[in-house]
Amino acid sequence: MRRVTGPTDRVVVVGAGLGGLACALHLAGAGRQVTVVEREPVPGGRAGRLSVDGYEFDTGPTVLTMPELIAEPLAAVGEKLSDWLELTPLDPAYRAHYPDGSTLDVLTDTVRMTAEISRVCGPREADGYLRFVDFARKLWRLERDNFIDRNLDTPLDLLNLSLVKLLGMGGFRRLQPKINQYFRDPRTRRIFSFQAMYAGLAPHDALAIYAVIAYLDAVAGVFFPRGGMHAVPKALAGAAEKHGVEFRYATTVARVETAGGRATGVVTDSGERIAADVVVLNPDLPVAFRDLLPPSARPRKLRYSPSCVVLHLGSGRAYSRIAHHNIHFGAAWKGTFDEVIRQGLLMSDPSLLVTNPSRTDPGVAPPGRQSYYVLAPVPHLDSAPLAWRKGLDRRYADELLRVLEQRGYVGFRDGVEVERIITPADWAEQGMAAGTPFASAHTFTQTGPFRPGNLHPSLPNVVFTGSGTQPGVGVPMVLISGKLAASRITGSTQGPEQMVGGRHE
Ligand SMILES: Cc1cc2nc3c(=O)[nH]c(=O)nc-3n(C[C@H](O)[C@H](O)[C@H](O)COP(=O)(O)OP(=O)(O)OC[C@H]3O[C@@H](n4cnc5c(N)ncnc54)[C@H](O)[C@@H]3O)c2cc1C
Repeated sequence: MRRVTGPTDRVVVVGAGLGGLACALHLAGAGRQVTVVEREPVPGGRAGRLSVDGYEFDTGPTVLTMPELIAEPLAAVGEKLSDWLELTPLDPAYRAHYPDGSTLDVLTDTVRMTAEISRVCGPREADGYLRFVDFARKLWRLERDNFIDRNLDTPLDLLNLSLVKLLGMGGFRRLQPKINQYFRDPRTRRIFSFQAMYAGLAPHDALAIYAVIAYLDAVAGVFFPRGGMHAVPKALAGAAEKHGVEFRYATTVARVETAGGRATGVVTDSGERIAADVVVLNPDLPVAFRDLLPPSARPRKLRYSPSCVVLHLGSGRAYSRIAHHNIHFGAAWKGTFDEVIRQGLLMSDPSLLVTNPSRTDPGVAPPGRQSYYVLAPVPHLDSAPLAWRKGLDRRYADELLRVLEQRGYVGFRDGVEVERIITPADWAEQGMAAGTPFASAHTFTQTGPFRPGNLHPSLPNVVFTGSGTQPGVGVPMVLISGKLAASRITGSTQGPEQMVGGRHE
């Protein structure tokens, strides 16, 4: 494994996103002196917090999978997950709502899920589900150990027996036909393939290796931390602080300082210099190259994932037919992905995620009130520079509220007493390339060793962490990216067998 050369005692981590925090903890655990410099007054980055009139809204991730990956950086400093976070397994993990009025609960327990699929789609479909679970579990183990949870220096690192196994399992065919081998009913086909969107692709374009995302949330389980998702970065930052990591909040790094072909520290926008042996960059990777690094080495042009609009709603109304997480599928399927990803259009028949966190933790809303989070995939700004700041934000929010009223949220609009609309213009303003919070898409050429690497191409002591680098997007991947970045610095090749947390299989 290639690693940072020269001294590594003092490390500056730019950004307290989940990637930066995980990296800081692994480094602190390995005895490094770590300073985290964060632009915002709080940790978390995309896993941020919006507090309005007694409502505590999570600004980014809502679907938490693989909590053992949170336990891992905590364990690096000798801390236990249960001392820092109270996690509730969500049951159901999701509720799928279909245009014909039927619903399907996604249950982590395979026996109960088999019964649920039988109830909704018949026993034959349930057999397909059991075969899928078997396939996806094997796929996850193979991918995690050989391709995700390790630093890859060149594509040649992939050439091992596991690659042959992955090929044999059809991992490099397309996801949708693979899912269709196990499921016949359009409803199960959708609930086990829509996750391709998390990787920035349509199920008919994504590689079948991304069936692991469906495995992680539909089979391995979804959790909710007490206090909301923002409790996760707060816990990681708290543990890091306890173990000697210095945090400089509300401090923006203006550039990485270099001399003699190495980084020598960072300079803040107030002109302060913070010296470092190694600099770890957690801001969006293309933006870090553009704004913080010398112009010599720019990454290649990337293809981005679609973006999203998020509505944060505080309301007096509660809905008994929904669960914590709800996917409301439109009647259109392939066409919806094509609109958002290929044609740069808003969905004409939207599929939406509605999360109702106050159902699980009433503490995130004022007494007797409910909080809602509505997420609609929309094109990123490179493919569709839409006029979000010129009234489209309001018009699109109204459209989403209208659609949800039609899909059973009676009086939704009238119940709203607090509302915030977040659009691609906001993501761009927060420093995310192409106005998408989901980084570069996981196309074949932007996956594994082909994704931008975590070592700077010419500065031997600059390392990247976060969703723009390997292994990829989402809370689990970004936490792993923090560990991989740290191991480039410490030389530790801690493998998955050392992962902690009882659920690691
Ligand atoms: C709306 C939304 C929904 C999502 N849903 C899910 C989900 O359900 N499940 C899931 O697993 N994932 C989800 N994700 C993705 C997941 O949140 C991200 O992949 C992950 O949080 C990214 O972490 P990161 O460490 O790469 O970056 P970030 O969180 O962006 O961290 C980067 C940090 O760097 C700081 N920074 C930037 N520039 C500077 C500078 N110049 N100086 C100092 N600091 C700087 C930023 O303030 C930020 O704190 C979602 C994301 C969003 C936005």
